[in-house]
Amino acid sequence: MIFGIKEKSIIFDPCIFLFLAIATDIPVLLMTGFVVQDTYDPLMYLQVPLIYCLETEPQQGEEEQKVEQRLLYPLECFLFGEDPCVGLQKLQQYNSSSSAQQCGRVFKEGETVYSCRDCAIDPTCVLCIECFQKSVHKSHRYKMHASAGGGFCDCGDLEAWKSGPCCSQHDPGTSVTMETVQFIFSYRYMLVWKETYELSEELKPKVKEDTYFCVLYNDEHHSYDHVIYTLQRALACDQNQAQIYTALIDKEGRKAVKRGTLSSCFVLVTGCVVGLREVFCQVALEPAADNNQLCLISRLMLHDAKLYKGARKVVHELIFSSLLMDTEFKRQFAMKFTEHYKQLQEDFISDDHQRNISITALSVQIFTVPTLARQLIEEGSVIKVIIDTVMDMMMEHLDSNNRFQFQGHNPDKFFRVQVIFHDLRYILISKPSVWTETLRVKFLEGLRIFLHFLCCMQGMEEVKRQLGQHVEVEPEWEAGLTLQMQLRHILAMFQDWCSSDERVLLLAFQECHRALMSCTNQPFRSEPTDSYMCKQILHARPYKVSEEPVSIHLPISRLLAGLYVLLCQTGAIQYLPDFVDPLNFTELAEQPLRCVVLAAQVCADMWRRNGLSLVSQVYYYQDVKCRDEMFDKDVIMLQIAASKMDPNHFLMLVLLRFELFDIFNDNCSSKDQEVLKQWNRLTEEMLYLIIIIAGERYVPGISHVTKEDVTMREVIHLLCIEPMAHSSLVKSLPENESHETGLETVISKVAIFKKPGVSGHGLYELKKECLEEFNPFFYHYSRPQHSKAEEAQKKRRTQEGSDKALRPPVPPPFCPAFSNIVYLLCCDIFIHILKRIFQKAAEDRSNRWTEPMIQRALHLVGQALLEEKTQLEGSSTEEVTFDFKTGSRHGKSLFHFLTKMKSLPSLKAQNDMIMWNLQMFEVVKCLREKSGPVASFSVDHSKLEESVQDKEKAERKRKAEAAKAHRQKIMAQMSAMQKNFIESNKMLYDNVPESSSQSDTAASVDSRVAVGPQQGVCSTDWEAQICILCQEEQEVQAQAPAMVLTACVQRSTVLTQNRGKTLSPKGTYPLFMPPDLAVGTHTGSCGHVMHATCWQKYFEAVQNTTRNRLHADLIIDLENGEYMCPLCKSLCNTVIPLIPVEPSNESAEIVGQHLTLERWIQIMSYNNSEKSQAEFRSILSFGVQESPKFSRSITEMLGVCANTVHRVGLQTAPNDLCPYVPVMSWNTCAYTIQATDNMLQEEGKPLFGSLQNRQLSGLKALVQFSAAQRLKSSQAVIQKHFADMLAVLVPVPNVENTPSILEVDFFHLLVGLDLSIPALYQEAAVDLQPSAVSSAYNHLYLLHLLTMAHMLQVLLSHRKRLPVFLLRSLIVSLFLRLRAGVTGFCVEGVKRGVLPFLRCAALFFNCLTGVPPPEELSESPESQLHLLCSYLSLPSNLFQLFQDHRDVVTTLIKRYKSDINRMFCHLVFRYPHKRNRLIDLPEDYSVLLNQASHFKCPNSSDDERKHPTLCLLCGVMLCAQSPCCQEQLNGEEVGACTAHAAICGAGVGMFLRVRECEIVLMASKTRGSPYPAPYLDDYGETDPQLGRGNPLHLCPERYRKLLHMWQQHCVLEEIARSLEVLNVMFPFEWQML
Ligand SMILES: [Zn+2]
Ligand SMILES: [Zn+2]
Ligand SMILES: [Zn+2]
Ligand SMILES: [Zn+2]
Ligand SMILES: [Zn+2]
Ligand SMILES: [Zn+2]
Ligand SMILES: [Zn+2]
Repeated sequence: MIFGIKEKSIIFDPCIFLFLAIATDIPVLLMTGFVVQDTYDPLMYLQVPLIYCLETEPQQGEEEQKVEQRLLYPLECFLFGEDPCVGLQKLQQYNSSSSAQQCGRVFKEGETVYSCRDCAIDPTCVLCIECFQKSVHKSHRYKMHASAGGGFCDCGDLEAWKSGPCCSQHDPGTSVTMETVQFIFSYRYMLVWKETYELSEELKPKVKEDTYFCVLYNDEHHSYDHVIYTLQRALACDQNQAQIYTALIDKEGRKAVKRGTLSSCFVLVTGCVVGLREVFCQVALEPAADNNQLCLISRLMLHDAKLYKGARKVVHELIFSSLLMDTEFKRQFAMKFTEHYKQLQEDFISDDHQRNISITALSVQIFTVPTLARQLIEEGSVIKVIIDTVMDMMMEHLDSNNRFQFQGHNPDKFFRVQVIFHDLRYILISKPSVWTETLRVKFLEGLRIFLHFLCCMQGMEEVKRQLGQHVEVEPEWEAGLTLQMQLRHILAMFQDWCSSDERVLLLAFQECHRALMSCTNQPFRSEPTDSYMCKQILHARPYKVSEEPVSIHLPISRLLAGLYVLLCQTGAIQYLPDFVDPLNFTELAEQPLRCVVLAAQVCADMWRRNGLSLVSQVYYYQDVKCRDEMFDKDVIMLQIAASKMDPNHFLMLVLLRFELFDIFNDNCSSKDQEVLKQWNRLTEEMLYLIIIIAGERYVPGISHVTKEDVTMREVIHLLCIEPMAHSSLVKSLPENESHETGLETVISKVAIFKKPGVSGHGLYELKKECLEEFNPFFYHYSRPQHSKAEEAQKKRRTQEGSDKALRPPVPPPFCPAFSNIVYLLCCDIFIHILKRIFQKAAEDRSNRWTEPMIQRALHLVGQALLEEKTQLEGSSTEEVTFDFKTGSRHGKSLFHFLTKMKSLPSLKAQNDMIMWNLQMFEVVKCLREKSGPVASFSVDHSKLEESVQDKEKAERKRKAEAAKAHRQKIMAQMSAMQKNFIESNKMLYDNVPESSSQSDTAASVDSRVAVGPQQGVCSTDWEAQICILCQEEQEVQAQAPAMVLTACVQRSTVLTQNRGKTLSPKGTYPLFMPPDLAVGTHTGSCGHVMHATCWQKYFEAVQNTTRNRLHADLIIDLENGEYMCPLCKSLCNTVIPLIPVEPSNESAEIVGQHLTLERWIQIMSYNNSEKSQAEFRSILSFGVQESPKFSRSITEMLGVCANTVHRVGLQTAPNDLCPYVPVMSWNTCAYTIQATDNMLQEEGKPLFGSLQNRQLSGLKALVQFSAAQRLKSSQAVIQKHFADMLAVLVPVPNVENTPSILEVDFFHLLVGLDLSIPALYQEAAVDLQPSAVSSAYNHLYLLHLLTMAHMLQVLLSHRKRLPVFLLRSLIVSLFLRLRAGVTGFCVEGVKRGVLPFLRCAALFFNCLTGVPPPEELSESPESQLHLLCSYLSLPSNLFQLFQDHRDVVTTLIKRYKSDINRMFCHLVFRYPHKRNRLIDLPEDYSVLLNQASHFKCPNSSDDERKHPTLCLLCGVMLCAQSPCCQEQLNGEEVGACTAHAAICGAGVGMFLRVRECEIVLMASKTRGSPYPAPYLDDYGETDPQLGRGNPLHLCPERYRKLLHMWQQHCVLEEIARSLEVLNVMFPFEWQML
């Protein structure tokens, strides 16, 4: 999104655009086409300036309206000769009879498009979502991706699909039913203004003032911000205005910043009537009357680069919907396109727009059509045209030797040039089934030009080994390799084409050979010399890779190698002598050999001083992205040479080029450790190369394997490293030109799929039977892969109890043309090399050999022995020509060395391999001697050998089985013992409770009642805690220094019954929580305890260090006191002090007889008034005690925590003195308990016993902390709160405007009342609080009162809205009936409705009093109402309450009648509340994509790419990351998601970005993090950004995990954790989402 200002365009140019007028159908009009021009032009000349030039500040849409009125409508009337609407109707009817449609939908940027991997001719064939959903491909292997814009739906194009070319909608057979297709037409009359920037006379406005405009054009160089800034300064406008302009410029490509839009003066109507289309096409392609003029469409094409973005889009769409919809016109257009190809590409190169809005992007639409491609080759020489174009563009990079040299090239331009290669690929994508003579000629002509191009690459960018000094400037290498990568598929396709015709293949080989011979690169400097070794003489020219220039780019040699293999494969090789002179294989192999040696030397660290550029080149040389046309082809060329040359000579040449000849000839020695090390490394690499040349046969043509076999082998070797995910396998396999790896066809044959868990991904594990194909020296292993695979396989073998020898696998036999390669493994030089190596090892001269060297040598011996064994087994001894000379002196000495090495301690790791080799020696010897005189003996011997092996194996197996059996036996014994124990102790166990209850009946100590006079004993006080920072232990005591618990306070809407409404009713909140629980304050904890002092020190240190960290503010909000838990790194923003639970163990039953509920209400409600002061005194007689005194540090921590809760919960500035500070503590206590209960129910867990320890201690600390709040605040304030709250239940004098019972949440009320009541006991002078007995009664009566009121609330909420007069009588009658014990209503409904309240109350009192709950409550998740009631000291039939307290009911009626008029003005919420979940997501992801494709931004009408983003909390679809939907939030401009999250989730958001298939977690304005979407493909992997495009399905477990994260308030924590890991350099602006 980048722009710039172009000087050239300071002039206003209302008409450099094409003017599209609308005309109609009917051939007659064609004839009169020019009449139209005559009549219409004057009108246009008159109106255009008036419309476009004169207004200074046109209203939005005004111009468009004028165009419509003054230009288009008259034209339509003229053309139709009647009302255009009527004419249009007729047209539609006319058209509905025509059939055979192509969809042709033009894709917008970001639109989802589908391709079928089974049926598409090539990956560029795509369907729009509508066609796809109605096509057969829906059930095939499809891929989806976002369109880059441009291009259209190929539905209905018979050449694009192998099967199912039409969806049901575009199927000609069913087209009769099409009624909804929109038609209009398109004889579009066009003017393309010539290059003059002046308007023609006619168009000049009559009045000339104010008609100059500054036009800003879009370009790709300037950043969004830059433009905004410049605009602000230049126009003196505000930032908003500048932003709007900038967005428009990006969209349209230009903008008259001093004037309004002229964008849509072309009302482009898409969809074409067949007849109209024809007319237009004919006109467009017709040569102009003036013979020098080009046809209209050519002129349009050639003007493309001069048009601005919006106009181009219009033209392209026009071409799509007309010319490309018809085979014949498409062909004609393609010819024109090819004709101007070079010019168009040149324009594109100097253009500054992206390719998708260039006319050149149309190539994909025409070049990929097989028949068209063939015609273009035959008639338009398109291959030649394309390569010529590239060649012209690249000319400037040629050096004096006619080779490319990219030093200091312009990457931007180079990038644009590369794009041309795509076109070549498109042309070659479908190889011909039938060759015509013309096609042969034209193809070979193209190939010749291509070879000419390759000649400029052959040997380019030579490197020379740097000695002494390091290179100063890293040479350019990326351009060259990029070129190579671009060519990769093209090279493969050229070979593929050649292979389909014998004659073409032979001629191509001839051309290629000639081209190679003509390359004069890298000549030898000196004359051939003779080298001697083992009585062999090699006559070769000396050359040293380490001293002379060498290049990694050898495309012609490699192409030749590829063609040679094809010749062998097709059998055409027999005719080769007719086409080329005898080949000199030494010469052909020379360059590839140098390249391989270069790689080896780089590996041996000899090229260290040449810098990273060389290392990178060598890396890519063997990397999966390049290797098939680089390294692999070099290997093939060496194999070709090895099959044709004398094996001794070949190996001598290899030794010479590796610069090891003298060492193996003993002519050379050194004491330099560095040099010795290099020699050793080179020897290792050379042995490796021989292993590869002799062993790698998985190429069709070299052995009889299929492509599938090749892929299978790659997959097996990848899986030998470790089990892998599907996507990593795909990444490690070479792709063909259709981006296919062939993995799916083989994977099930070689691997087993392991499903993923809730995180991670699915893995493929290799099947056991495939393991024997493992080759530790597989040539596509990188070094790290090699050692990893080796280690993994050794480990596996050890686990299985077999030996650790990683023997070479049996390779498939060579094809006849290559069969001579095996003689490398038995020639004299080979034996000589091996002997030298083993000798050094046997003599144990430590720096002359290395273990990898021995390993490779052993592998080679194994390969040779296997070869001989296979040959001997296959045919009679006399016929076998391969002889490793096991019986000869050489063989004996090898055998001798091996035996000696067996005992070497330094080679212990190779022992198994040596043993195996020795056995193989014996086996081969026996096989060879089998037909000899001692045949019988040797057969026996070999049998013996085998049987010995078998025996060993059997023995091992037996042992393993014995061990297994033993284990099983022990297990069985243990479980039997367990059973026994339970059986024998059952009696004992059953008796225990009885006996204990008998002996202890009187003890109320064991009472499991938490409320009231029967309250049991507190059993769960804090144990001594260990500080996680200083590790010291401390008791939790009121007077001791404070211990604190980490905690995180956040606003939450998890429980809301009214999503989207975050604002609570003014006035009463926060004292009263409304019943919809719209926003609560949640306090969570990770449960880690510290000393307050330790925490303070830690906190300060963290603040100081974090401040200096980059972007730390994004992870933790220092200003708001955030920090990470020192132990578990959870995000926290406060601490909760631990307060000891107050003990209570007196029995208090007697009191109850005097203090009834009625009396209690009287005392409590009149406490406020003066007259009752005396009365209240009386309650004191029931017992008071002194309030606990807390240490200074505890008091301080109480303040810290309460302030955070207050500040976060109310989103206000911190204020100690705010009267709501204690209220917020009670609220967060209540809300957190409710959230906990909600979570337990969601997970189906029992109320008690299933909370994690950290959750439990967090909850307990929170309740105790809230209870202690009253001691910190002014007693008058607390007493006032109490009176206000009590007034909801009973009439309280002097309290007004109390909400009705339908307007409050009763659990919040319970917590508030219960925690504030002790304040009533406070005297001015003495700190008093109720004694345990008094407290017990307070709890009891409050709970009874609230339960009754809540039951009434539940009952009322079950009714529909009632008129007020009915309501009054309803309440009265309800009460009376309840009091009388009549239950004519839904008893079960009430019980269900009250249950959550009781569960929360049980949790609350459990934390407050510490009385353990009845055990049954922690056993079953089923809600056991009677158990809860007994724990809470309620009658098990709750309705009994109304009878027990029948006197009170009158008071209650009095209270409720008073505000009946206010009831029912609010929404009524049903009880129990609904549990909030995340929205339901469809199982198939493409359904979501479909939904998103219909998404329309509410604030803009343009068709630009949007980012539809789904809120998972409420299901609303938002327009993210777009200026059109930004909103103001607290005076700051934020994106739609941030604004929505603030309301929907109280700042917390969970969104699904549909096009990107990614979840975004958000918390507060500035923080967010991406999170994998809960959608998996068939391979158990997620697909962020839809990069792979496989079909995706919902994974319910993962979605549940997200739900739990939200319900447990862990979103914030997850974000902090992921940000901590990411440690971003360039932070994403989350608030703009
Ligand atoms: Zn379509
Ligand atoms: Zn269709
Ligand atoms: Zn298909
Ligand atoms: Zn400590
Ligand atoms: Zn922690
Ligand atoms: Zn929402
Ligand atoms: Zn929008």
